[in-house]
Parts: sequence; C-alpha cells; structure tokens
Amino acid sequence: MDYKIAVLGTGAVGKSSIVVRYIRDTFTESYDPTVEDSYQKPDEFDGKACILDILDTAGMAEYSSLRTQYMEKGIGFVLVYSIVQTKTFQEIEPLIKKIYEVKQKDPATCTIPIVIVGNKVDLDAPGEREVTKEEGEQLAQRYHCRFLEASAKTNVNIRETFSQLVNAIDNS
Ligand code: GDP
Ligand code: MG
Repeated sequence: MDYKIAVLGTGAVGKSSIVVRYIRDTFTESYDPTVEDSYQKPDEFDGKACILDILDTAGMAEYSSLRTQYMEKGIGFVLVYSIVQTKTFQEIEPLIKKIYEVKQKDPATCTIPIVIVGNKVDLDAPGEREVTKEEGEQLAQRYHCRFLEASAKTNVNIRETFSQLVNAIDNS
C-alpha cells in the first residue's frame, strides 16, 4: 500500500529536518526555507511492508491554493510545531480545521489520520520551552490526533512519527 503523507507547519519548525532524518538519517543546522520535495520511502512497520510517499511542504502562507491541493491529495498528515515557539503551535489548530474543511469531513464524526509533532525537544530547558507537553496532548485529544514530542536533531521519535501515522491510516 502507498501512503500519501503531507508534512505541514510554519516555516523553520523542522519539517524538512524531520523528513530528511527519517529518509537519510542525517541532520544539518543550515536552513533553506524554499526546499520543497517529495520522497518515496519503502519501510516496514509491524512486519508489514509499505511505501511512504512523503511531501515536504514549504511557503504555505503565500501559496494557499497549493496548500489546498496538498490537503486534497494527502491521506495522512504530519503537523509540526516547535516546542520553543508558541506562535508555531498556534498555527496547528487552524491547519487541522483547514484539512477537515478541504476534505469536507466533520471532526465530530470522522477522524482524518494526523500526527501532531512538537519538534526541537532537544532544546527543552527552563526558560526555553514555550509549549508544554500537556498543551500538545490536549489539542491532539480534541481532534483525535496522535501526538509526539520529537527532535530531528537528536533523532527522537522521528521514525515513530511515521509509524504512528501509518497505523492511524490503517485504522481510519
Ligand atoms: P522547515 O522550514 O520547517 O522545513 O524547517 P527546517 O527543517 O529547515 O529547520 C529549520 C531550522 O531548525 C534549521 O536550522 C534546522 O537545523 C533547525 N532544526 C530542525 N529540527 C531541529 C531539532 O529537532 N532541534 C534543533 N535544535 N534544531 C532543529
Ligand atoms: Mg523545509
């Protein structure tokens, strides 16, 4: 089975880093906000072979008709924010609502496979973290999404993100 996945979120939260860590197991400190690419990755979760077709998006705010297309085409979604930047977390709920709107589904009666990822958990330190784990969990509960805190830098919960999403798609 071919899993069409779109990775969405504000700029600089680590979308590309998460995808590259998963695909190539590398990480770079450099930032190119224009990178937008799709990747095909064969993998195996729970003994089941699958192909992940991952779209790493960029420049969402400026290209809203493109964004609608991504949402129409995607079966599952990874929504990324940074735990050290509240305003990136505030973008997540509008994204969820938009996905439901584009797919013409009602979150009260239907669950779209979504994993919310609080990235950059390696930066968690007193005075640095702006979004608590509980805030992430509560948002996820409200929309029946999966939730993980992760780090592309230190490779925490990256493969787990895609594993959870494949599982959510299988159960949808
Ligand atoms: P995108 O715009 O969402 O695709 O963000 P990028 O993946 O390009 O990352 C933006 C910046 O954040 C880059 O400088 C990355 O090196 C950095 N970054 C990404 N993920 C992490 C992480 O887990 N921890 C830390 N400390 N930095 C990260
Ligand atoms: Mg990017």
